[in-house]
Amino acid sequence: MKRIVLLGPPGVGKGTQAERISDKYGIPHISTGDIFRANMKQGTPLGKLAKEYIEKGLLVPDDVTCGMVWDRLAEEDCKAGYLLDGFPRTVYQAEQLDAHLKAVGQDPQDITVLNIQAPTQTLIERATGRRICKDCGKSYHTVYTPPKTEGICDVCGGELRIRPDDALETVQNRLKVYEDQTSPLIEYYRTTDRLADIDGCQAIDGVFGQICALLGEKP
Ligand code: ADP
Ligand code: ADP
Ligand code: ZN
Repeated sequence: MKRIVLLGPPGVGKGTQAERISDKYGIPHISTGDIFRANMKQGTPLGKLAKEYIEKGLLVPDDVTCGMVWDRLAEEDCKAGYLLDGFPRTVYQAEQLDAHLKAVGQDPQDITVLNIQAPTQTLIERATGRRICKDCGKSYHTVYTPPKTEGICDVCGGELRIRPDDALETVQNRLKVYEDQTSPLIEYYRTTDRLADIDGCQAIDGVFGQICALLGEKP
């Protein structure tokens, strides 16, 4: 049973690793950012609300985000484990997650938190070079993971775009929000013995290798 939380600053490579972990271990990849973006694209009330915050680089309010995650975790495919990417992002969300897991009969201590880290300059370079497919949401990087044909998604042929919140100024805001609101989670999980540090400076395969070595040792 794998229940994993991916923790790390914007652009460190959470989504990239999440896709691979999800494939290898057969668990659903739950990205709160992806769910918000899908709602924004469809123009749902949740999407309209989220957009107000996301485009400024701010966090969507905790209660909205938690409610959305509890609904997703209740789905059938999460019974055999799951990978949370981008949630929790505040100490409040982490406390609520622990309480929610207890309430549904899961032990919060069973969670493995992978803390991926890299220096600020690397994060900025990764986020500003990121391109995402406007149709399927797949992510590329202009230098590190370019598509076969420039500007076109390898998977679906959709057009690649810059995420509006990957503009330099917004990335800088998101990094500040991470420092203030998300980095305290590192201590929250370390002191409860659930944290594993991963060196995000390596190439994508290297980071994945370190994650697999770590997860492989766990039942
Ligand atoms: P996050 O979900 O943490 O914001 P992503 O997984 O979307 O990060 O990665 C941000 C960008 O950096 C993407 O364009 C991705 O292709 C690229 N990237 C991810 N991991 C690496 C890596 N280890 N080395 C180089 N580029 C990477
Ligand atoms: P990244 O990891 O590159 O910052 P995400 O795709 O995870 O990007 O998130 C994009 C945006 O969605 C965040 O900047 C934030 O506004 C919002 N968001 C995602 N997850 C959460 C969360 N757990 N709580 C509040 N807001 C969130
Ligand atoms: Zn696509």
